[in-house]
Amino acid sequence: MRTGNDLELVHLTKRYGATTAVDDISHVFPNASYVCLLGPSGCGKSTTLRMVAGHEDVTEGSILLDGQDISGLPPAKRGTAMMFQNYALFPHLNVRDNVSFSLRMKGEDKATRHRAAEEMLALVDMGHLADRLPAQLSGGQQQRVALARALVTKPRVLLLDEPLSALDPFLRIRVRGELKRLQRELGITFLHVTHGQDEALALADEVVVMNNAVIEQAGPAREVFNQPRTEFVARFMGGHNVLTLQGARVALRADDVRLAREGLPATVRAVEFQGNHVSVTAAHGEEEILAYVPEAQFYDDPKNPGDAVHLAWDEGRLHRLLA
Ligand code: ADP
Repeated sequence: MRTGNDLELVHLTKRYGATTAVDDISHVFPNASYVCLLGPSGCGKSTTLRMVAGHEDVTEGSILLDGQDISGLPPAKRGTAMMFQNYALFPHLNVRDNVSFSLRMKGEDKATRHRAAEEMLALVDMGHLADRLPAQLSGGQQQRVALARALVTKPRVLLLDEPLSALDPFLRIRVRGELKRLQRELGITFLHVTHGQDEALALADEVVVMNNAVIEQAGPAREVFNQPRTEFVARFMGGHNVLTLQGARVALRADDVRLAREGLPATVRAVEFQGNHVSVTAAHGEEEILAYVPEAQFYDDPKNPGDAVHLAWDEGRLHRLLA
């Protein structure tokens, strides 16, 4: 029976001896969405992904796909497929045979395997290199082959563990766009682990922020960025100040802080040119406040460390934090 939910985690826990890597997390992932699991190193992202893939046992709780508990099933029977960070291609098999490998394990005949492999290679624009060995491909090409190999099983959910981390920055942005396009075309859920907030914001329909083995906040990318619930999320997403004003902890976006004629007096501590904007850090007593000033505006009246400035913002832009 279809429940309408692709993937659901129910009180999922993973312990390694005394370490709790994932602590009682429950979450329903929206159907056919691009989800990024985001958080600092060691927060439990990969462990969560590996449990969904079936590469790691569940200590407690369950993993539902279409309402069915898949947590006891072997990886190949779950309806999930994983693409690894290092691609894990077989060096002695050509591209076509790498992609069709799992179908060979399933006992499919050669013609069926090759047809499926060609279809997937066309999808990732690698059909013309089907006879090459992995060592004869660039990093970006190997990555596409790994992607085709994961997709050839027609998974309901594709799991990606830091898929862009081995690529140079330029290629990373291009492949990022291709991943997003593929997810849209295939209409399946992509669950993508990353520690990069810019990557998560660029890709995700839903961002799930993890910290210390729990989900700190989950929601649409814009919502998580604009309405961080906690100080951790505000700081981790970046581009926010966390301030104590009238006894309350609040977040204030750095691009909402202006250098003005009147306002909070502060002393410039650091100035960094960032292209579109200039990042100005100024101190008011103990409190350091970050302002992203549009580039042209900054250079109309440039500031240097040690200069006295006034900082201003609209009260309505302050966002109260829960913790
Ligand atoms: P992330 O992917 O967010 O970097 P992980 O899921 O890899 O985090 O790890 C979460 C926690 O579980 C860390 O404290 C890590 O040291 C621990 N951990 C992960 N895998 C193992 C393992 N195989 N044995 C023992 N501890 C592990």
